[in-house]
Amino acid sequence: MNDLRRAAELCEFCPKMCRFSCPVSEATFREALSPWGKVSLAALAGGSPEPSASEAFAGCTGCLRCQQYCAHANDVPRVLYAARATSVRAGTPLPAWTDVAERFRVAGHAKDVDLLAVRRTISAGDGQPAGAMLFAGCDALERGGELLRAALAVARELGAPLALAPETALCCGLELLEAGHPERFTEHATRVRGELGAAPVHLVFLTPGCARAVRERWPALPSGSRIEHVTTYLARALATAGIAAERPPLPISVAWHDPCELSRGLAETTAPRALLAACVEEVREPIRTGVDTSCCGAAGLLPR
Ligand code: SF4
Ligand code: SF4
Repeated sequence: MNDLRRAAELCEFCPKMCRFSCPVSEATFREALSPWGKVSLAALAGGSPEPSASEAFAGCTGCLRCQQYCAHANDVPRVLYAARATSVRAGTPLPAWTDVAERFRVAGHAKDVDLLAVRRTISAGDGQPAGAMLFAGCDALERGGELLRAALAVARELGAPLALAPETALCCGLELLEAGHPERFTEHATRVRGELGAAPVHLVFLTPGCARAVRERWPALPSGSRIEHVTTYLARALATAGIAAERPPLPISVAWHDPCELSRGLAETTAPRALLAACVEEVREPIRTGVDTSCCGAAGLLPR
């Protein structure tokens, strides 16, 4: 049974147990945009979705909160990304999805910024060639690369230096999946993976969604490879090295908002708290926290 048919059957007989959990239906008050509504529509639309169905498929940030409350762990985002691919094949995609594919064709990513030029402004780091590599990622590069510089500096301070991944590893390609182009995603992933070499690699990511895409959706990396989020990598280094005594915590209080893809996608909730606890005097929790975290709404190519 394929993913969509199984997901649809699970939803069909379900009294919408995850209905309250979806940030999109919560914000729009639309039953059609509940996880149940979107999966049911994907099943009903079959291979020829109308443009209005494509708009419904777009109403998912990929936050995985519905999966958290689904007794069957139904993977609704995966179903909806597949439904978006059906829209692309049927000629009824959202213009934004076509735009993503065209940008990847021209530049190898979907950003407006020259990511390679930004990448070249960052010192490659001082890790060993065979050690952990920081995958730059299009989001951090689009913002000027400051987060990458900071991650390299913190890793160095903790005695676990990172090297930037090769220049060709700018973007994992996740947006192609989100835009309904799974074949193009596989082509992109295969090319970037090939440029990382044939030996096992240790890849560290700033964006948890990218780490999960590489872990779960890329062609398999060589046996012995490791993929993890930067907080996981740095917290492990912190546990080994500790913080120098001359660096007392900053006298501030911060609240940590768990990103969906980190807490639910990668099941990582302790590492960021361990890092913050070493840096500031107080770490507070929002009302929705850990695996129940709220979605910020920025992902999944949700229309703005
Ligand atoms: S995703 Fe799970 S909880 Fe939500 S409607 Fe479908 S079967 Fe029910
Ligand atoms: S993954 Fe998040 S946005 Fe998508 S249907 Fe589930 S709860 Fe809604």
